Amino acid sequence: MKDSTLLQIAKDFGSPVYVYDAEKIEFQYKRLTKAFSKVKNLKLNYAVKALSNISVLRLFNKLGSGIDTVSIQELRLGLKAGFKPEDIIFTPNGVSLEEIEEAAKLGVQINIDNLSILEQFGTKHPKVPVCIRINPHVMAGGNTNISVGHIDSKFGISIHQIPLLLRIVENTNMNINGIHMHTGSDILDIDVFLYASEILFDTAKNFKTLEFIDFGSGFKVPYKKGDIETNIEELGEKLSQRFNEFCKEYGKDLTLAFEPGKFLVSEAGVFLAKVNVVKQTTSTVFAQVDSGFNHLIRPMLYGSQHEILNISNPKGRERFYSVVGYICETDTFANNRRISEINENDILCFKNAGAYCYSMASNYNSRYRPAEVLLYKGKAHLIRKRETFDDILNNQVEIVL
Ligand SMILES: *Cc1c(COP(=O)(O)O)cnc(C)c1O
Repeated sequence: MKDSTLLQIAKDFGSPVYVYDAEKIEFQYKRLTKAFSKVKNLKLNYAVKALSNISVLRLFNKLGSGIDTVSIQELRLGLKAGFKPEDIIFTPNGVSLEEIEEAAKLGVQINIDNLSILEQFGTKHPKVPVCIRINPHVMAGGNTNISVGHIDSKFGISIHQIPLLLRIVENTNMNINGIHMHTGSDILDIDVFLYASEILFDTAKNFKTLEFIDFGSGFKVPYKKGDIETNIEELGEKLSQRFNEFCKEYGKDLTLAFEPGKFLVSEAGVFLAKVNVVKQTTSTVFAQVDSGFNHLIRPMLYGSQHEILNISNPKGRERFYSVVGYICETDTFANNRRISEINENDILCFKNAGAYCYSMASNYNSRYRPAEVLLYKGKAHLIRKRETFDDILNNQVEIVL
């Protein structure tokens, strides 16, 4: 996305604002599809929680993608966006039996990640096909909050519990049609991923009625120049070959499924914020923008790095800044960053703002959540209005005291 386009969007729609590039989303989708072109049946289920705007979901629907949902609300959003139930997988963690039953009633693929619910669900609904989430206990991923496959993780059914799992399946006579793992975000080492895949293949041999194996996601994207990312092409080559071998052994052409979020949308998004104040202290120059962790929490929550460019003065002399927000609490976006000279009212562009940014935004400090704009075929479309004071009051009940 060109600086001039982004500056115009900030002018037309105000700041702060999220901007997504449909072309980049499509590029990533096709890149992943191509990497696994040697697999006969490939299914990509976009992980809705990364960026759940209904227009973005419509775009994925148009590309032929399915979706991965983690709540009944995401599932409903998907149906509203036009996805057929068979293109939706429901992969919650720690939700009630009732919520899973509600999803099953809507006809989507159910994925269960604990033995207690598996037994209850299988006893009541033995005919509904179920996918099971396995925890292969492989340590992968970056920050401990985003690596979810390790031994202490709350996700999935431990591979050490397979005998018990098999007994439940046998006793209830339920139909297990898929197995799944999702080991966490920011996978760098392909060999670790392949190692976890072997555990999944081993587990798969226990089930005779499988239709698919879901390898989750966790592909790493680059956050700054020189950053390493998951080598999707190499992973595609190696895993496809191994998957095809496995299908031969298994005696059936299974579907290989993935559910990427970040890989598909992270780089497609930017966040634009305006500099309110440049504040010089004894040790630092702060650039304070009209936003904070209420709109983009990842740096504070995970320590994630978002590259920040001054698109109002891209050729200016570079200086060091700490970029912070206007929240009354520490809300640092970046410490001691080299950015071209910043003046008040400049527009800063935060990169990699497509995934887990808007979807984690809040009203903290009673601020409005920003607008969202989708660049589609050269035109900027408003896909979510900025909130108003009415939204802040909505659902609040004023009692007379
Ligand atoms: C969050 C999540 C994903 C997406 O992970 P990314 O790192 O964004 O690709 C996939 N599957 C499940 C079950 C998830 O919870």
